[in-house]
Amino acid sequence: MDIDAREKSHKTLREIFEKRIKQLSKLPRLRDDASIERSIEEGGFSRRDFMKWAGAMTAMLSLPASFTPLVAEAVKVADRLPVVWLHMAECTGCSESLLRSASPTIDSLIFDYISLEYHETLMAAAGWQAEQNLENAIEKYKGRYILMVEGGVPLGNAGSFLTIGGHGKKGRDIAADAAKDAAAIFAIGTCSSFGGVQAAAPNPTGAVALSEVTDKPVINVPGCPPSEKNIVGTLLHFLLYGTLPALDVYNRPKWAYRLRIHDLCERRGHFDAGEFVERYGDEGAKDGYCLYKVGCKGPYTFNSCSRNKFNQGTSWPVQVGFGCMGCSEPDFWDTMGTVGEPLKDKLYHTVFGGMGADATADKIGVSLLTVTAVGIAAHAAISVIKKPKE
Ligand code: SF4
Ligand code: SF4
Repeated sequence: MDIDAREKSHKTLREIFEKRIKQLSKLPRLRDDASIERSIEEGGFSRRDFMKWAGAMTAMLSLPASFTPLVAEAVKVADRLPVVWLHMAECTGCSESLLRSASPTIDSLIFDYISLEYHETLMAAAGWQAEQNLENAIEKYKGRYILMVEGGVPLGNAGSFLTIGGHGKKGRDIAADAAKDAAAIFAIGTCSSFGGVQAAAPNPTGAVALSEVTDKPVINVPGCPPSEKNIVGTLLHFLLYGTLPALDVYNRPKWAYRLRIHDLCERRGHFDAGEFVERYGDEGAKDGYCLYKVGCKGPYTFNSCSRNKFNQGTSWPVQVGFGCMGCSEPDFWDTMGTVGEPLKDKLYHTVFGGMGADATADKIGVSLLTVTAVGIAAHAAISVIKKPKE
């Protein structure tokens, strides 16, 4: 894109965002007693922290840095956006990982604030009152609420494996009903996106992804658990654009899932150099070598963990020395092989062409090293040829 066209498209985007923020700011806040802004302040974050966070989110959403003030404005009006959060068959790990941290992050504060409309883990109500709250929220915010669903949906035995509340309502019907009048639907976590562990073979409860029980488009935000930045970013994206983001073949937002774990990994240099950990605790492990041979599935997995990290952004699995398990890919329990062992399948063969299904990581490293060496040799030869001229 030339500079003029890019500036034009930025101008159009800016106008779209400003219009959306203006529209949303006219809506009443979900709570009169507080605002997101105040909640962030009370969480101990200064304006400088907040703007730094907004800058990082802007970059994550692949927007130019000049859009940071607009992203910050969008966060402030997010407290007009009602969220209904349902739990299907799951472990509540996605919610817990976001909310039960020792010191909350800006992402978790935003999430905490906007989720209060109906969130089965957070709300005070229980029993009949909780059921009533769900019906009320759906009615009151018809066409306006964001539906976020955590967990797979069991369809086996006519859906009776997940029966909720006094009326014996099935999880599949609750999810389908809530989806009807939602402004946007996000499947949070791998269970909701793809079925997850309960859908692993032999899938006794017939668990499926949320997208199987509604005809409406579902944005998948997989991960076990998903990064809080991927959740809040998906929400911010919807808030700013008012439309669905560009999605990959598995309906994951491309801005968050377009690259492989392998593409962004800090151990990648060791992979390319053919330096691998052979056993946990060996010399290679101490030197931070690549974890491919001890089962890292990073080359097959699309996610942004190395950028976002976990535990208040301190670390992520590969950084602490354990390979990626492929948790944001469909059916990863069934398709990613044994934990601690590398995959030696057709994909392996396709990715590293011509090595055969039993090629080892050494061959991959050596082969890549050879390509690199050829490149370096060619570069050196060109330099030698060029030198006399210079
Ligand atoms: S195989 Fe795993 S540890 Fe090695 S570079 Fe790729 S993602 Fe990183
Ligand atoms: S590193 Fe891999 S297994 Fe771990 S959370 Fe990220 S995608 Fe999932």
